[in-house]
Amino acid sequence: MADIQHYDVLIIGGGTGGLAVAAALKRARPQLRTAVVEPKATHDYQPGWTLVGGGVMAIEKTRRPMADFMPTAWVKDAVAEFQPRSSEVLLASGQRLGYDQLVVAAGLQLDWQRVEGLQDALGRDGVTSNYRGDLAPYTWQCIQNFRGGRALFTQPPMPIKCAGAPQKVLYLAADVWRRRAVAADLHFFTQGGAMFGVPLYAKALDGVMAGYGAAPHFGHNLVAVDGARREATFERADGCGRVTERYDFLHVMPPQSAPDVIKSSPLADAAGWVEVDRSSLRHVRYDNVFALGDCASTPNAKTAAAIRKQFPVLVANLLAARDGKPVVASYDGYGGCPLTVERGKVLLAEFCYDGRVVSTLPLDPAKPHRLYWWMKTTLFPWMYWHVILRGRDWKHPAHIPYGG
Ligand SMILES: Cc1cc2nc3c(=O)[nH]c(=O)nc-3n(C[C@H](O)[C@H](O)[C@H](O)COP(=O)(O)OP(=O)(O)OC[C@H]3O[C@@H](n4cnc5c(N)ncnc54)[C@H](O)[C@@H]3O)c2cc1C
Repeated sequence: MADIQHYDVLIIGGGTGGLAVAAALKRARPQLRTAVVEPKATHDYQPGWTLVGGGVMAIEKTRRPMADFMPTAWVKDAVAEFQPRSSEVLLASGQRLGYDQLVVAAGLQLDWQRVEGLQDALGRDGVTSNYRGDLAPYTWQCIQNFRGGRALFTQPPMPIKCAGAPQKVLYLAADVWRRRAVAADLHFFTQGGAMFGVPLYAKALDGVMAGYGAAPHFGHNLVAVDGARREATFERADGCGRVTERYDFLHVMPPQSAPDVIKSSPLADAAGWVEVDRSSLRHVRYDNVFALGDCASTPNAKTAAAIRKQFPVLVANLLAARDGKPVVASYDGYGGCPLTVERGKVLLAEFCYDGRVVSTLPLDPAKPHRLYWWMKTTLFPWMYWHVILRGRDWKHPAHIPYGG
């Protein structure tokens, strides 16, 4: 049998969470043998795709070479199988890696194929999605070329990453059309029962929707798109069957789930996510396994904002466990969602576990502010590349809100 390469800490995924943990570990314990397993050559700043779709940011600003941010050894491969009982992973290439401790940060998967006809319809005739970076510029093209008619925006069942993104694009588009006096008939279809999971923000967003004359349709799940006929079909949650809607512009958020490689592994909970304790981020069955970000079972909003608070906790606990000490660092479920309610204003929804509203700056959390727009378009991207991906944890990070 070929030799198994062994690492002190093995990190799966070179996205937001994986790179932040790798960089923070390198700072804290440079002597550790650490590696990141990541197949992609580029790293995407996904929160920027909303801005690209709204004509505010160039797509080039959201992509950087992975190598520029890889602080440790890089295994350019993908995990094909997790084998936590033997503390090993099997890679797609057939190679095996062993570890003392494992960090899983493999994100989530976009299940485009679960909406019939969607993959064929995307990228033409007014059908788009900011959840694919390559399509975000097309979103902006569609918004600019829209001459009036029915504009539909969809949101799939939870959990999804950045639950606010499906409506951010609606507001940015509606703002452009209002300024240009384009007659848009706006509709938001969501499987959920409110505009946001936290009542304070849901109420504020009801007002934003009403201001644009946009109609919310709760309990509607997109199941099919017919690009040729320009029709979208929804399954109704009230059991009254399906309804088909005509569109001139359609923005789709795809259904999302845990990566198949996690779902089928012993690391998964019943829903497929890596089953970790919601405070310590340590696996509930395998002591030497930790997880953060979108792939973790923690019931927070799946956002980069959450990762900013998770990675220092995870690193502190991983090192404590390594030293035979108790894991005491605790993640409070913080998440942030900068809702771009118009070009120039953002409502920054910040909240912790169980919907507890927090506001890091002394501003009314239920009101949109210009300062937050500047943060979303300028400060947060800078923080992402220079603070989070570099694993920097300012001693009092709570002084600066982060919405991604
Ligand atoms: C349109 C959009 C708008 C958003 N807006 C915001 C926002 O405003 N604010 C905010 O905070 N967040 C926002 N987010 C969410 C945020 O980008 C994600 O929550 C965050 O990037 C998740 O980080 P992650 O490390 O968990 O996963 P990712 O960054 O997705 O990284 C996962 C990595 O794992 C790799 N991987 C997958 N499978 C394997 C495997 N088998 N083996 C090895 N590697 C693997 C992938 O290639 C990927 O690089 C937005 C997301 C989108 C799409």
